[in-house]
Amino acid sequence: MTVPFRDNFVFIPAWQVTFLYASFSVAALIALYLFYRRFRLYGIRQAWDGLRAAAGGNLKTFAAGGLLQKKLAQRRQGGVIHFMIFYGTVVLFIGTTLVFFDSDLLKPFRIKLLQGDFYLYYKLFLDIFGVLFVAGILFALFRRLALRPAYQHSARGDYVILLGLLYMGVTGFFLEAIRLALTGVPWGNWSVVGHPLSLLLAPYLTNYSLSVGIYRTLWMGHAFVAFAMVASIPYSTLYHIPASGLNMLVAEKKPLGKMDAPFNLQLMMESGNFDVKVGIDKAEDLPWHRRVMLDSCTNCGRCEAVCPAYAAERPLSPRKLVQDVDKFMLAQVSAGGKLGAFETGTVNDDELWACTSCNACVYECPVYINQLDFIMDFRRTIVAANRLDDYKNRLLLNEANYSNPYGLPPSDRDSALAEIGGKGYADGVEFEYVYWVGCAASFDARARRIAKSMVRIMEEAGVRYVILGSKEKCTGDPLRRLGEEGRFQELALQNIETLKGVGAKKIVTHCPHCFNTLKNEYPDLGGNFEVLHHSDLVSKLLMEGKLKLSKPLNLKATLHDACFVARGNGMIKEPRKVMEALPGVELVEMENSGARTFCCGAGGANYWYKVYEKRPVSKLRLEEAKATGARVLAVECPYCTAMLEDAAKAEGIEGQLEVKDLSELVADAI
Ligand code: SF4
Ligand code: SF4
Repeated sequence: MTVPFRDNFVFIPAWQVTFLYASFSVAALIALYLFYRRFRLYGIRQAWDGLRAAAGGNLKTFAAGGLLQKKLAQRRQGGVIHFMIFYGTVVLFIGTTLVFFDSDLLKPFRIKLLQGDFYLYYKLFLDIFGVLFVAGILFALFRRLALRPAYQHSARGDYVILLGLLYMGVTGFFLEAIRLALTGVPWGNWSVVGHPLSLLLAPYLTNYSLSVGIYRTLWMGHAFVAFAMVASIPYSTLYHIPASGLNMLVAEKKPLGKMDAPFNLQLMMESGNFDVKVGIDKAEDLPWHRRVMLDSCTNCGRCEAVCPAYAAERPLSPRKLVQDVDKFMLAQVSAGGKLGAFETGTVNDDELWACTSCNACVYECPVYINQLDFIMDFRRTIVAANRLDDYKNRLLLNEANYSNPYGLPPSDRDSALAEIGGKGYADGVEFEYVYWVGCAASFDARARRIAKSMVRIMEEAGVRYVILGSKEKCTGDPLRRLGEEGRFQELALQNIETLKGVGAKKIVTHCPHCFNTLKNEYPDLGGNFEVLHHSDLVSKLLMEGKLKLSKPLNLKATLHDACFVARGNGMIKEPRKVMEALPGVELVEMENSGARTFCCGAGGANYWYKVYEKRPVSKLRLEEAKATGARVLAVECPYCTAMLEDAAKAEGIEGQLEVKDLSELVADAI
């Protein structure tokens, strides 16, 4: 019996093969040159050093995001389509490379790779993935042309690439079918697509030399389109493949809620050197890995689809911002330009103030772009240029004069402590937790009810805690998100000193902003504490049996996940454990919940200034809560409480949908 084998370059004369390799070499040289030009924008030396330093620690991210396409799967339809095209391409590319090895590299050594059973499975495998590849492209075209998801933006170049890929996939099958029809090899039926197609074509392939001519023409066309695609990678949509791969390998690993420190105030004070550039404006301000990040954007629109600011018709789209800054960066760096992003109209103040720092865009982006880092850095530039309105200036003044955003005397924290009825700190008091009350519960009567509930819970469960009263200052979250890094760090250093001074090891807080800042941002400044959100502590107390709930509440409730708890810090189960432990409470989920929660509109210091919006973010969220038919909207943040309660009042439904913090519900059920 004949051993099945791959007859490489059958029907292709030697001159055509030589011509093919010559053409491929030209395409590869063009691609290499264009890659070089593109990488020059990052600084090749810097990029290489950065890659070597970071890649080892990021292999998991690369495997999950690049190879397994984890983030793409967050949207099923687009994820499946990309999966089909991506894996189809990978397998077909490997298949073609094996042919190259088999026909040229291994031949001089008399090694035949593509033969026997291996060859049969090779054929089967390639045909299956070829079908996936072609079907994926057809779905992608159908989706862009007919389904047209609102967030998808198609450029002509996207269609050119898709049609080019489709041409390659379809001609690949036709080439296989003609080859099988003309050679009639007995193992043809292992080509599960090529074989039936060859049977269909056979009646039209009776003229042998004409058929061979058609085969050769198709073959050259197939090869040239493939070469053109390769050469176009550095300057087409396909560039997202190497750029996003590189981005995943060098992306900084950090909790989503964390903002980086552009300088360390303490070190600056110690050295006496205050010469530091904060924020970004000119292209040269963008470090190389940020340039790679910008270049990774595929314009897929997923970030725009989840952005609360965009949904509220505020003047911001994270997709557009990334695309605009990328074009600006490419133009400025290539031409050695010195113009700024604000000066050229690439970004504007209103757009940047529209962001709630909810991190939905960052969570959603399949290529690991951190849109928020750009926004926050641009904000720092606005603050440095002193282009702030009265609201923002007032916030800065209040923080400077009173160490809180409300502009109320710090001594009010002691009055709040008396009203809350909790244990204040005194020398020699033994405690396990510092209960960080935060500015809202210290200065706002509504939020104080949350602190009262927490005190009741901790007393009931026998938790040893202390409240710092007027020793506590704003954590600085609104300052940092506004772009005032220096004052943020001043407050942070003062708080760290206080916390160390009282011997704090563990901190619990009901405020997600305090939680995130204390947990993720203070360590950069020397404050290392174990920080718990109150949902975490309460859920632990319930699980350990230290807290017993006996009073049935008999209500249907939905839970609004705070961005800085669920998405920023991945705490999704803890508040649900608390909800599930409430007697007589039926929990119904909103359309957007858990890590894909929808912002209340207060984050990113938005609570402290006015933002133009057509459909308030808080109202959009309230609509989702209303749609569940719940009577109680459970929250886990004093600012979400205020935003959603105000939205309910504005709608006149505060009697039908009551906004309550988790701790209030727990205290009610004790
Ligand atoms: S952080 Fe939130 S509000 Fe800001 S751009 Fe991203 S999705 Fe939009
Ligand atoms: S930033 Fe990310 S999510 Fe947004 S369009 Fe670009 S690739 Fe898509």
